Amino acid sequence: MHKKRCLLIVDIQNDFCPGGLLAVARGDEIVPRINRIMGRFDLVVASRDMHPAGSSHFKKWPVHCVAGTPGADFHPGLDINKVHCFIEKGTTLEDDGYSDFESTNLDLAGYLGSQAVSELFVCGLATDYCVQATVLDALRHGFKTIVLADCIRAVDVQPEDGARALQEMQQHGAIIITSEQLDI
Ligand SMILES: [Zn+2]
Repeated sequence: MHKKRCLLIVDIQNDFCPGGLLAVARGDEIVPRINRIMGRFDLVVASRDMHPAGSSHFKKWPVHCVAGTPGADFHPGLDINKVHCFIEKGTTLEDDGYSDFESTNLDLAGYLGSQAVSELFVCGLATDYCVQATVLDALRHGFKTIVLADCIRAVDVQPEDGARALQEMQQHGAIIITSEQLDI
């Protein structure tokens, strides 16, 4: 049976890219790479961090991705025409919404199951927060989970946070490849 492959694009939003309110260094560099590979997947899902103003999440983080602001929009370079399904997370006042599996507008695990997805490829921002939380949840839900290491970028509050996050994902069963290896 054909293995259905889904690309999950985590939080490619203006506020997480250079110039944004919670910018990830070189976060925008991954956008063209992600655009290049999108067409190779049966299903493409893209998430956005979407907080209400006054969210308790902003006690831990600078204000970012507030619903209705340009910072919450997808990076303008991302080819959203190829996205089949959009999800939002962090939408309540108490909700951190790190993982795409905590989406408030869609039960992601249920949706992927209903679409018979067998392999989940994860990319986006940021490696050491939302990507990591999403990958660990995907593994917990039993999905074969592949991280595209050249299509993620880390915040690195502490040096090497991104490298450590990648290591932890691998220890939990994630497969780490680059987008060049996709067809192998
Ligand atoms: Zn957030």
